[in-house]
Amino acid sequence: MTAKFTQEDIAEFVYARNLEATSLQDVIGKVIKDDRILRYVPEALCQIDPRDGDLVVYNSSRSHRTHMSAGAMPEPEDDSDRCPICKKQMTPIIDIADLSEGFTFINKNLYPIFHPLNRLIDEILEQPLPPDPLHHGRKSTGIHLLQWTSSLHDRDWHNMPQADCEIVMGRLAALESKLLHEAREFMPASQPPMGDKKTFGYVSIIKNYGHAAGASLTHGHQQIGFNNIMPSKFFNNLCFYNRNRRVFSQYMLDENPKDLLVKDFGKAVLIVPYFMRRAFDMLLILKDTTKQFIHELDEEELNQVTGGMRKAIGAILRLMHQQGKVPSYNMTVNNGPGAGLYFEFLAHTQELGGFEHLGLWVCQANQYEVAQQLRETIVL
Ligand SMILES: [Zn+2]
Repeated sequence: MTAKFTQEDIAEFVYARNLEATSLQDVIGKVIKDDRILRYVPEALCQIDPRDGDLVVYNSSRSHRTHMSAGAMPEPEDDSDRCPICKKQMTPIIDIADLSEGFTFINKNLYPIFHPLNRLIDEILEQPLPPDPLHHGRKSTGIHLLQWTSSLHDRDWHNMPQADCEIVMGRLAALESKLLHEAREFMPASQPPMGDKKTFGYVSIIKNYGHAAGASLTHGHQQIGFNNIMPSKFFNNLCFYNRNRRVFSQYMLDENPKDLLVKDFGKAVLIVPYFMRRAFDMLLILKDTTKQFIHELDEEELNQVTGGMRKAIGAILRLMHQQGKVPSYNMTVNNGPGAGLYFEFLAHTQELGGFEHLGLWVCQANQYEVAQQLRETIVL
């Protein structure tokens, strides 16, 4: 049975009901003061692998998470009795929105990978990527939030009504906007400034679903990281733009073979990339490649992107189940400079091996057959 809790049940944790009604400064202040989170603050250190620009941030306290999974075991039918969210073990909530059944909400991650530094550090504000000849790493500061897709344990994008998912996406857009626009006091300007967009820091939105894909909680959620250092995939997209004078999304819209189209929604398109690394890898690309952020989407675009995301996730779960695999995937939102806006879906259909760690991916599927399977699946 799905565990249920009401907004009244968690009223003591509600710091703000509506993001728009609180300032980011207040949210940050609340995070710094939260005693529970203080036990698990990260090391505020970021190292960069000089070979490929991959970033490594450190938080050894994350290994102490009480709900950590033992391994890639199949999910029990219902584990809501062990779910810390359903047991109302909350951190301060900064946004709540009603759904047709239950509600969606945003709160702080108890085990953050980014944490606000107590005082402003001028070097950070002035130099987001300073040279580091002594390899001491860079100061990493920011905030780490969770968006719970639904208060109902087993509800998520693939099994909620479209209208409810649009509300969830709308709240994600509002959060993205707030972080990027109100962080002037404690975050360096996003680099490089794209056109007249004046934003601060970088917002990384990801979703892990299933133990094999790194999800430590089964209650459906998105993770939102906001920090001062650009993730390497964003940086790579920017380099792509500088080399080709074409954003990556536009390149894919122009160049990806038409037979790899999964579905054209009108303002967004779902494709299998020609360089698919694993079965069911997909990109959901906004056709207006001048837009970079979710909060820049108009209502029609937002709704189509939401629909595309539901279709992509639903297809991955159904196809993995059919193949006898435990459904699991990662989703990333690519809203960095020089990318346009695209969502990437990475199904955990194969393990990473040694070849992959050399940058040589061995894929046990054919792109064109996969695209056909996905097309047949998403119309069901
Ligand atoms: Zn739960």
